[in-house]
Amino acid sequence: MVGYTPGETTVHTSVAEIGRVTRALRKTSRPVVLVPTMGALHEGHLELVRAAKSLPRAVVVVSIFVNPLQFGDGSDLDTYPRTLDSDVEKLCELGVELVFAPSVREMYPNGFRTTVSAGPLAEELEGASRPGHFDGALTVCLKLFNVTNCSDAVFGEKDYQQLVLMQQLVTDLNLPVQLHSVPVIRENDGLAMSSRNVRLDDGARQAAVALSAALTLGAHCGDRGRDAVLAGARSVLDVVPEVQVDYLELRDGRLAPLPGDVGEGEARLLVAAQVGGVRLLDNAGVILGDLEARQEKEIAQAALQAAGLDAELTEEEMAELRRLREEVRRVREQRGADD
Ligand code: AMP
Repeated sequence: MVGYTPGETTVHTSVAEIGRVTRALRKTSRPVVLVPTMGALHEGHLELVRAAKSLPRAVVVVSIFVNPLQFGDGSDLDTYPRTLDSDVEKLCELGVELVFAPSVREMYPNGFRTTVSAGPLAEELEGASRPGHFDGALTVCLKLFNVTNCSDAVFGEKDYQQLVLMQQLVTDLNLPVQLHSVPVIRENDGLAMSSRNVRLDDGARQAAVALSAALTLGAHCGDRGRDAVLAGARSVLDVVPEVQVDYLELRDGRLAPLPGDVGEGEARLLVAAQVGGVRLLDNAGVILGDLEARQEKEIAQAALQAAGLDAELTEEEMAELRRLREEVRRVREQRGADD
């Protein structure tokens, strides 16, 4: 097939060409799996590629496009690292067969007008300091989904808000694309990998570890509730003056605000900060509530179910179970002391 050689890497720059090749491949019933990137590829991106390749019979398309639409005025669009040759080399080593690296003019020809409006969440967190960023990111991804005829697309949890908004785009606009996500890939010391990390000087690089350290400490405080999580994370950030925090927030898994009375459940802790003039992002999952008590309840419920009693345990029954457990522990300790 012209423009596609199995086992080799072909770089396309034209919308028409990548469209023709991927349409033909879809006709052979193979999934076309898109990994959208802005290039300057690192191990985090490569993990997305590996996840894409792991889908059965996948043809992987990696797009490399620094999308001007998602950069605001005075942002780092002009200085964003661009390393196409070494990116293609890395993708070649991983056995990626299709790379799509269009020019800005190819993606946004004269007369381009229509954009996606990402909705209210796009104005919060990252969106609060980067107006229009998510409209731009969703617009380019919608175009890339269409242009590459992809059946699947892979995104990183590194940009958690983007992932949530991308899923919303797919759902709201009924796009025939299945999304897959990959956890944050980190350096050995915990720093989330990012194309912007190369801009950190030695001092800033050292200070930047505070972000992941803060998330780790915060997540460890999950059993003590929301305020403890935020205070734990803040205590780490506060002692590193090079880190200027933009936001530190705890939200639910879909980034809605947590209800005031939330005691238990899964949440996301997100941080953004300027470190040595570089804007860094990170996030981590947090389990709120007493994990031991929750596990205990789940075990007790499973035991009741096995006995044919599938009713939910009430708070009084849980308290009674705890009382019995303490009683058994006390009797055993007593017996141990007597022996
Ligand atoms: P970018 O090139 O920064 O636009 O990122 C392209 C894709 O790679 C996005 O889905 C990012 O979330 C993902 N990504 C970037 N860095 C990481 C990382 N450290 N771990 C996981 N995914 C990442």
